[in-house]
Amino acid sequence: MNNESINKCIGCTVRSCKNHAQAEDYCTLRCVSIGTHEPHPTEPQCVDCESFMPQSGM
Ligand code: SF4
Repeated sequence: MNNESINKCIGCTVRSCKNHAQAEDYCTLRCVSIGTHEPHPTEPQCVDCESFMPQSGM
């Protein structure tokens, strides 16, 4: 990923994601989809980035 595509509106520490900027803790997508795996989410860990993509080879 190159720095020009870093989206500083989307901070992210998930460096194992293919869409992560790597050089800095931001996403490179223009927009991400957020969702939940819980019927009634009550904590931050109930919420997921549904735009996550594994790095190739992982
Ligand atoms: S797609 Fe989601 S998990 Fe992946 S870098 Fe962007 S915000 Fe992080």
